[in-house]
Amino acid sequence: MLRHQSNPTDKFPSDRTDIPMNLGILTCPTIPETAPSHCLLCGSPAKQVLRNCFDTRFGIAETFDIHVCSRCELHQTSPRPSPEVLRDYYEKYYNFSGESGTTYTSRRERFLKSKLYTLWLLMDGDVSFHARRGQGRLLDYGCNEGRGLMRYQANGYEAEGLELNPRAAQSARSLGFKVWVDTLDQVHPAQPYNVIVLSNVLEHALDPRQMLTQARSLLSEKGELWISCPNYRSLWRLVFGAYWINWHVPFHVAHFSLDNLRSILAETGFKIEFVQQATPALWLTQSLMAALFAKRGNPTWQLRSAPLVILFMLLFRGILFPILWFSNRRGRGDCLVLRARKA
Ligand SMILES: [Zn+2]
Repeated sequence: MLRHQSNPTDKFPSDRTDIPMNLGILTCPTIPETAPSHCLLCGSPAKQVLRNCFDTRFGIAETFDIHVCSRCELHQTSPRPSPEVLRDYYEKYYNFSGESGTTYTSRRERFLKSKLYTLWLLMDGDVSFHARRGQGRLLDYGCNEGRGLMRYQANGYEAEGLELNPRAAQSARSLGFKVWVDTLDQVHPAQPYNVIVLSNVLEHALDPRQMLTQARSLLSEKGELWISCPNYRSLWRLVFGAYWINWHVPFHVAHFSLDNLRSILAETGFKIEFVQQATPALWLTQSLMAALFAKRGNPTWQLRSAPLVILFMLLFRGILFPILWFSNRRGRGDCLVLRARKA
């Protein structure tokens, strides 16, 4: 069961919706509050709204707080890791598994190529833009081992990837794709891209403004940026509190709403052309499993149990679909999905 308790610090100080921040909560009173921080987007003071979030996936022992900016309401993980510390976390915990040739991976490949997957995307939300057809040059930032690249190629695009993990990049290259193992500022394509995909990427950036500016410089005139990222105004954040899977500390540095995402896109020279919200059944499943099983300092193995995850996903999608539909329509979905064009 989720534990609920009220906490006077758990409020949006300037949230126009007056929604309490954290209904489900796990706190550890021996850990002091982190010092007030400054917003990584606008530099205004930010203060704590959630204490002692811990990594619910890999078993990182440290805890983190969530701070909210008094001006732009960007939520951010605090303390903010330095680039060096963050790199260490990625290397230690975020390693590419390299699983291939197993029954599970071959079934997954078959599913991803099937019409059933296209139907699933229609129902569940296409947060990776796997159903969008078109043409032109496309760069998938964080392409991992290239499953997305195969979809983009099948949908008509000339797809390239960017992947900082060399093993994952090599795996994508073995499928025949060009893959950059660089940061965006080191990417120098022969021709600009027509599309850059930042699917669940921007929230990882220590400097989201810089990432968007660099992406813009790589796009053709009227090029498109496709972005998906968690929505901190999600209904499910209220339900799961500190266990909401999308806090994902310390890897998620910034936590966006549509408002502050809209601002930063306008500021960096983009015009939003399409916005939608989605609540993937997988994300709900992961939040529930984190709430039920995660213990600080221990990896949550249940998140990697394919039968368990699939069972819960089908249950959520089957039973909760009216609530999911309604929360998405009301701006309370788990994921923001948008397309913006270079202005
Ligand atoms: Zn701010």
